[in-house]
Amino acid sequence: MTPEQFGAAVLDWYDRHGRKDLPWQQGITPYRVWVSEIMLQQTQVGTVLDYFDRFMAALPTVQSLAAAEEDEVLHLWTGLGYYSRARNLHKTAKIVVERHDGEFPRDVEQLAELPGIGRSTAGAIASLSMGLRAPILDGNVKRVLARYLAQEGYPGEPRVARQLWEAAERFTPFERVNHYTQAMMDLGATLCTRSKPSCLLCPLRSGCRANLLGRESDFPAAKPRKSLPQKRTLMPLLANREGAILLYRRPSSGLWGGLWSLPELDDLEALAPLAAQHALRLGERRELPGLTHTFSHFQLAIEPWLVRVDSAAPGVAEADWLWYNLATPPRLGLAAPVKKLLKRAADELNAGEMS
Ligand code: SF4
Repeated sequence: MTPEQFGAAVLDWYDRHGRKDLPWQQGITPYRVWVSEIMLQQTQVGTVLDYFDRFMAALPTVQSLAAAEEDEVLHLWTGLGYYSRARNLHKTAKIVVERHDGEFPRDVEQLAELPGIGRSTAGAIASLSMGLRAPILDGNVKRVLARYLAQEGYPGEPRVARQLWEAAERFTPFERVNHYTQAMMDLGATLCTRSKPSCLLCPLRSGCRANLLGRESDFPAAKPRKSLPQKRTLMPLLANREGAILLYRRPSSGLWGGLWSLPELDDLEALAPLAAQHALRLGERRELPGLTHTFSHFQLAIEPWLVRVDSAAPGVAEADWLWYNLATPPRLGLAAPVKKLLKRAADELNAGEMS
């Protein structure tokens, strides 16, 4: 297929099968497209739908996002994971308001300089919301092109990435680039799926080398494997008489930066100094079922302990510590495993097993 035939086949497929009813495809603005693209970076469309609507209802403009408290932004992100995305979203909104008068730059290079916006996301914002001819190469498009070209090698390698970008550039049409971009993402998500692609329905089949060779599952090549290191930590859920749990806010940089979390201890011995720090008298304790959380570069095995605090609930004197009321939870950003553990603690306390 020539690039013109490739583009025409994709657009024709878009007219017949492309998704046109997603919330960020309505009332298109760079802000809405940008937020949706950041949410979609590591998350499936089905999950993003609710989060997107909630986010837009709370923060409908880049100005409102720039003016929001970080806690509010992280709260709206709770459960989506990869929280650096939310922090970068907040930073970028401030930059757009302060340095660009609240307008996203109409230029791929300038867009790609904003925190959290890589080359592909910049291309998606530029093409979907501004109609600029800018290629994209997100995970879905990478898969389609790697198969179409039978591109050997892991796409994370610079040489392979360069070749895929060249192809993405070559195939991007000069007209209807917004529909083409959407169609390529949809093709990867719905037909050229990771396993069992629906090649018979694919508009690119006649030119697809992987299909011709019967080797669809060989492309793109998998990342060379490394096993993740393991770490462990003990997380006490200190529950006061009102059924509130002691949380602290993590430093804004690093793991779970700026999110509210449970204390992390090496072992149960370390409970006493923690109790002393907050002038608490500890009572009965019990171990809850463990939890393993996988980060991109290690696995964390969490041993949760529910620990009763017998002394009357004192206020927390130190900033960045608070009693989190399980019955009337405040709006805070919580790391996903912490949210799960708070739910378990609430179930346990409600069951009254420790009272
Ligand atoms: S023919 Fe199959 S492998 Fe090739 S691009 Fe289409 S769905 Fe993917």
